[in-house]
Amino acid sequence: MDLYFYNTLTRKKEKFLPIDKKEVRIYSCGPTVYKNATIGNMRTNIFQDTLRRTLKYNGYKIKHVMNITDVGHLVSDGDEGEDKMLKSAKEENKSPLEIAKYYTDLFFKDLERLNLEKPEIICKATEHINDMIEYVKKLVENGYAYETSTAIYFDVSKLDEYGILSGISLDDQKAGARVDIDTEKRNPYDFALWIKAPENHLMKWDSPWGLCYPGWHIECSAMGQKYLGEQFDIHTGGIDLIPTHHENEIAQSKGKCGKIPARFWMHGEYLLINGGKMSKSLGNVYLLDDIVNRGYEPIVYKLFCYSCHYKNKLNFTWEAMDSTAKSLTRLREGYQKHLLGDSNVSKEIIESYENKFHEAINDDLNMPQAVSVVWDVVKNNIKSKQFAELLDKFDTVLGIDISKKPEEKIDIPEEVIKIAEKRKIARENKDWNESDKLRDSINELGYIIKDNKDGYELIKK
Ligand code: AMP
Ligand code: ZN
Repeated sequence: MDLYFYNTLTRKKEKFLPIDKKEVRIYSCGPTVYKNATIGNMRTNIFQDTLRRTLKYNGYKIKHVMNITDVGHLVSDGDEGEDKMLKSAKEENKSPLEIAKYYTDLFFKDLERLNLEKPEIICKATEHINDMIEYVKKLVENGYAYETSTAIYFDVSKLDEYGILSGISLDDQKAGARVDIDTEKRNPYDFALWIKAPENHLMKWDSPWGLCYPGWHIECSAMGQKYLGEQFDIHTGGIDLIPTHHENEIAQSKGKCGKIPARFWMHGEYLLINGGKMSKSLGNVYLLDDIVNRGYEPIVYKLFCYSCHYKNKLNFTWEAMDSTAKSLTRLREGYQKHLLGDSNVSKEIIESYENKFHEAINDDLNMPQAVSVVWDVVKNNIKSKQFAELLDKFDTVLGIDISKKPEEKIDIPEEVIKIAEKRKIARENKDWNESDKLRDSINELGYIIKDNKDGYELIKK
């Protein structure tokens, strides 16, 4: 069956065929490991996982590279401000290495909890400094880069066109350009490839231009080329990367070898919170931990993300999490119902569902449509093991553990709830002694009380 993806580069849905028939080569921009990944970041990772699983469903082998940005991403997403890693290291009183390790481990723990496949190759920027130096040297040699007193810059005016991914012309950009801090820059949209480190800068490496550290974009060009070659099949990331990071990756690659590094560029849209941006100042930055602490299985969030096409904005609410949790239970109950069934269904019926599901995922990862086919199978009145097998097959793409037995709902005794309510009031009154006593009473009755943002959750011991 033909496979179609929307390509940001051509602004069209296009038939996908890999360069090498057997193996699809993908590069995904990974996390900057200076803070916790949010559920917004995870939406982008869920989209990337769906892409991987869909390609596998179509019989392809995959070589998927994801970088870990542990140096060079400045607070402004441009060439200004402090390195995010150093800022976080200072704030948390740790070394940049400790910060990177801590947040990298948490990131992979989140991927695991969401049942997201790990890319075949994970590469850290700090372990590829020489590859980056070689890349920058080649850009200087080819006449695409120049040195100033603060950095080595990429000269965007040397390209035949700059802005092909975001569709902005250099003239428009010049008109709206900001006043630049670095007066030695030739064009406002020139960007730093390699930055000269101030004396007390913690992360710096020897290079032909003295002690420096990399700009944000060079790592992905250097590592992408190292592991996937000068041109590979798909490059992915969040939508915010289009006009900045990805545009500059294309510029670098064109300057080095004349090629756009990937044929398909796929971007995931943003997750919104209650219709707006997730931001620290609004206190609505949610992590996967927040979802778990409120008693949801992480997979509920994944299923929730499938309710919207990856190219559309998705609005997160706790009400939506509640209804998705119920849906997940119903899907699993439906699976169990079929598993116990002994009816036979015709090959044609199975194939018809299978085709509909396959068409949905092959149509630019249309997960809302794919999930509606899953519901049709689940709801079919004929109880058949063949349907359970089909759902297992669909779950190789969904990864929602559909064969897991739904957890039995436990009825909490009225007596326990009453004590929990009393304890809630005690806590509101900051009567910690009373609160501890009531916790012990709940324990004695065989239940555990966990506090959360909504109040509490009761679990049977
Ligand atoms: P950041 O940690 O903000 O640099 O984000 C890392 C990646 O996650 C970015 O490239 C974004 O594309 C993606 N991302 C950040 N916030 C969101 C969001 N609210 N929804 C979807 N993706 C996001
Ligand atoms: Zn990148």
